[in-house]
Formats: sequence, C-alpha cells, structure tokens
Amino acid sequence: MSTPRVGVLALQGDTREHLAALREAGAEASTVRRLRELEAVDALVIPGGESTAMTHLLRDFELLDPLRVRLADGMPAYGSCAGMILLATEILDAGAAGREASPLKAIDMTVRRNAFGRQVDSFEADIDFTGLDTPVHAVFIRAPWVERVGPDVEVLGQAGGHIVAVRQGKVLATSFHPEMTGDRRIHKLFVEQL
Ligand code: GLN
Repeated sequence: MSTPRVGVLALQGDTREHLAALREAGAEASTVRRLRELEAVDALVIPGGESTAMTHLLRDFELLDPLRVRLADGMPAYGSCAGMILLATEILDAGAAGREASPLKAIDMTVRRNAFGRQVDSFEADIDFTGLDTPVHAVFIRAPWVERVGPDVEVLGQAGGHIVAVRQGKVLATSFHPEMTGDRRIHKLFVEQL
C-alpha cells in the first residue's frame, strides 16, 4: 500500500504526540473532528484523555455512529488508554449515570476503567510486548486494564498480572501511552500492518 492515511481523533486528549509518532512511523497523519475527515482516513488512532468526555463529544460532533460503522466495516484502529476503553465491547466502571463512556465494540474484551487508578494514579513499568525484542517503557495514567478477552483477541502485554495490551485483527489497544516516551515501535507495528 502507498503511505497510509491515519487519523487521530482530536476531540479531546493527547492528539499532538500521536500525530508526531505516526509521522515518524511512516504514516500520513491528520486530525479527525468531522465526518468528512473520518471518511478521508484509512485508519484511526483514539488517544488518551477521558473516555466519558470523548463519548459525549463524539455524540455532539455526530461521529459516534459513523465511527461504529467504520469499525464494524473493518477500519484498523489503535486506542491508547481512554482509546482502549472506547474500543472495548464492554466497559466496567463506565462513569456516572448519564455520563458513561460508551463502547465502540471493535475488540471483544471487557475493560475496567480507572482500574489501576484505584490503586495508584499513575506509574511506569518496563513490560514485554509480543512482537518487540526488548521491553517497552510503559506510562500508565489513571489507566484501565482488561478483565476478559474473547477467543479472537491476542494478548500482547501484561503489567502486575493484568492485561494491558491487546490486538484483534488490525485493531490494537494499550492501557498505556507509548506516544509519551519517544519509542515509536508500537506505532510502527500499527502502521506497518496497514
Ligand atoms: N481514566 C481515563 C478514562 O476513563 C483514561 C486516562 C487516560 O487516557 N490517560 O478515560
């Protein structure tokens, strides 16, 4: 394929770092806030931020249903932290009634929001990551963990006995923020499969 066009959902959260990481990984990267911008990309990154706020902004910008449809049609995606939460089929501790994060159902998994956050708000750890020869330095910020994965989901990484990185087909998710460390290997894994 020629240079893949990868969008970064830019309603809220750490957009800029993902744009830079994607460019360094060889993609043409652009922000996505409107339907026509979503239609123009081959794949999408959903960044960290706050999954409840992102859900409401997706609704306000009339992107929630179109995004669900694109994912159901097989658009590759990568979600970090809040993005991982949104890609799940089921979200535990999804937020206050009426303000819940809403699952986009692209990866057959159950994710617990703020799971590590109840123990410690943020922490860093070097973790083994399937497909990479040396550990990844992972930054967790009020991070979720994965409590259940379906049969088609590959577990790529764990921290403290909990699943923190997964892949189902061309949809990838991490509880942590590789865009913050300068290590582009995870963005490369995502871009190189497009
Ligand atoms: N706790 C946030 C949420 O529920 C995620 C935090 C993050 O993306 N760093 O969406």
